[in-house]
Amino acid sequence: MSRVIGRLKNLIHRRARPLRYRLLQPLLAHEAFSAEELQHYQQQQFNAMVCFAIQNTDFYRDRYQGIAGPEFDAAELAVLTRETVVAQRDAMLAGGPEQAGLKLGYTGGSTGKPLAFYYTDEKTEHMRAGMMRSYRWAGWRPGDKVLNFWGAQQDIRKPRTPGDRLRRYAAAEQTLGAYEFSEIDLLNWARHVQSWKPTLLQGYASILAELAQFVQRRRMRMPSSIKGVFSTAEVLYDWQRAAIESAFSCTVFNQYGSREVPNIGLQCAHGNFHVFSDLVKLESIPVEGEQQLLVTSLTNRIMPMIRYQLGDLGRLLDGHCSCGSPFPLLALDVCRRNDLIVTPAGRTIYPSYFVRLLDGYSGIQQFQFEQTGPGRMVLRLCASREVADVAGAALRTRLHTDLGSEMYLQVDRVRSISRSHSGKHRFVIGMPAEL
Ligand SMILES: [Zn+2]
Repeated sequence: MSRVIGRLKNLIHRRARPLRYRLLQPLLAHEAFSAEELQHYQQQQFNAMVCFAIQNTDFYRDRYQGIAGPEFDAAELAVLTRETVVAQRDAMLAGGPEQAGLKLGYTGGSTGKPLAFYYTDEKTEHMRAGMMRSYRWAGWRPGDKVLNFWGAQQDIRKPRTPGDRLRRYAAAEQTLGAYEFSEIDLLNWARHVQSWKPTLLQGYASILAELAQFVQRRRMRMPSSIKGVFSTAEVLYDWQRAAIESAFSCTVFNQYGSREVPNIGLQCAHGNFHVFSDLVKLESIPVEGEQQLLVTSLTNRIMPMIRYQLGDLGRLLDGHCSCGSPFPLLALDVCRRNDLIVTPAGRTIYPSYFVRLLDGYSGIQQFQFEQTGPGRMVLRLCASREVADVAGAALRTRLHTDLGSEMYLQVDRVRSISRSHSGKHRFVIGMPAEL
């Protein structure tokens, strides 16, 4: 009976998301490529993307003046910084900002500089197809349940019609809003995992680790239905991986990507990071003594991103993984650093909550939140006085609504924000243990 229901759900989902399943097919076929075939395919896609960008956007037409195709050497093309994306957003659009179905997404990113980028439903479907391929590495199949722990409130929408409800049921996906949580929430989530019996858990590394530690402390038995846990959006520390694998008795798959360029890579069950070289071209170049990662999306024909500096460090590795995947290997450095914020009442707030508070504000060059004491936070802003005043007032109101009156926010307008001793920017800094 359950197999029949599974097939039916799969069928409904395929009919609801035909584009996603169509896009998935070539992605699955690429897994059977040899490393050489993949490399060849990647170069073809790269050439096509650069040609497309030159022919369809004002920005790349000007930027690559004098560079002729149809073959392109990436090293001869300028690096795209986050600042340039902020300044040239509309000029980077293929077809202009008036094209139909265009949406604006925001990311606080790992570098502390908010960024807005354009996307369409098709880009989202491409991202979801890439995620479906990743899930398969854990043994998930269409129709299997996925339980998400997302911090973003806008990602969680209630179904409105019976058709919506049916499609959601068929999608077999549930999302728990998790930007803040208490012991009660952790207990409820653990109980929900026990009763709903998902195949995959997916979410931010810090929240999954908190849940895992809670489950271990309470000695709660987790269902054997769980085949894998997908960690995303944050650095996954070894202690977090160990806690999650032990609590849920399964492998942790670490995803690497960003909102503007998703599905860059995935850490396989053998612990190696693979680059999805059919979706992106990833490069590692020396900048001030560090190996900076640059990414080119091979699929984004809305707002082409070519040699985009991610703000992460890493090296591309030679050799093959014993898991058998033909996708090339990457050593990703731990350079994105997050911290949890704890309220005086003992509630833990996920860093993304604070990062998201600045979504939609333009004119902020850099920001950093720091908890300086129990019930006290400082927001450092590199912005004009007007922007800082408006953002500060709105954020205080928002914190009051979301967290109660217990957290006071002080807004400091600063010229620049100093980096940590390792040279990285931290956009949310938690309270030191001795405070
Ligand atoms: Zn592998």
